[in-house]
Amino acid sequence: MHSVERTYQGLIQHQDKMVLRTKDCDERIMVNLIFYGGAGEIGGNKILLTDGDTRILLDFGMNFAERSKFYSTPWLEPRDERGFIEFGLLPKIEGTYEFDEGPAQVDAVFLSHSHTDHTTCIPFLKKEIPVYCGQTTELLLRAFNETTVGRRSFEKNIEGFQFNTFRTGSKIKVGSLQVEPIHVDHSVPGSYGFIVHTSEGAVVYSGDFRIHGARGDLTADFVEAAAKTKPIAMICEGTNLTEAEVSTEQEVQSKIGQVVKATPKLVLADFRPADVDRIRTFYQAAKENQRQLAISLKQAYILEKLKADRNLELPEVDSAEFLIFQREKKRYFNWESAIVDNYPNVVDAERVGELQSKVILSASYSDFNEMLDI
Ligand SMILES: [Zn+2]
Repeated sequence: MHSVERTYQGLIQHQDKMVLRTKDCDERIMVNLIFYGGAGEIGGNKILLTDGDTRILLDFGMNFAERSKFYSTPWLEPRDERGFIEFGLLPKIEGTYEFDEGPAQVDAVFLSHSHTDHTTCIPFLKKEIPVYCGQTTELLLRAFNETTVGRRSFEKNIEGFQFNTFRTGSKIKVGSLQVEPIHVDHSVPGSYGFIVHTSEGAVVYSGDFRIHGARGDLTADFVEAAAKTKPIAMICEGTNLTEAEVSTEQEVQSKIGQVVKATPKLVLADFRPADVDRIRTFYQAAKENQRQLAISLKQAYILEKLKADRNLELPEVDSAEFLIFQREKKRYFNWESAIVDNYPNVVDAERVGELQSKVILSASYSDFNEMLDI
């Protein structure tokens, strides 16, 4: 049997990209990893993995630090993709984008989770390139798309996209590769790492993950399965590798409890709309302190959509512990009106003002004008 002697070039700078490759004894490149984003920076992951003629992308997100050098939301927004190409925010990868001439030259895109720094470049993909993601990621991407309005919406426009969804245990064959998604815990539900079985051995990609969260056991499952494959390369998220101070979700809940107990009137809570672990934590903290958690219309909409994933075991939006806060606006979008019309627990600023000592209000910096009414 012919045995292939492999040489590994570590992560090297090649042109302006980070490249990792294996070569056989004839110096032919076998497995090649090109980091178009996500190496040495936070987010913007765009990793091209090639194995012979097979080419897949692991995540396809925007680098927001780079984007902010050219655009400043909400004052200066991109009009369309032209600016992104001009400023190199969409890397040149042949046969990838809808505006590229000729056939698709990427066989598939795999999304690890729904955060924008891993997904926001997918609206520009050629429509024939299959996009694989977790079922919950599809639910969230569609909900983000439906609730994003205005000029930035083209960056989240996934209308007409056919997602191929997977769960842990799926094995997806693409050319010479087999991709195995395995759940990890992260600040958004439906997050996965990948074991990519190549002709040279396994390449492991962690995606974003945590072990201090509510479901660290999910990450442990991924680590265990990945270790068994004795990978030839591992791509690991490392935002908090050094000097990070993290609290478990239990510690977060106990700190919230202390703040709520010490606060006689309104408590404000700022967290990401799709961070369901944090919603649960505030929900529990509210319950234990005889308060109700007032969530935004957007959070109510996302929770409603996520009900389709029964594994998440989310509290019901119309349960007694929830209120839904309706901001004062001249005009409401259809999805907002649907929430207002369908739920009996919608409250306005005046009502929140009356209930101050009985409410934790989910509010971000952009909600501060509401405080005048409350
Ligand atoms: Zn993330």
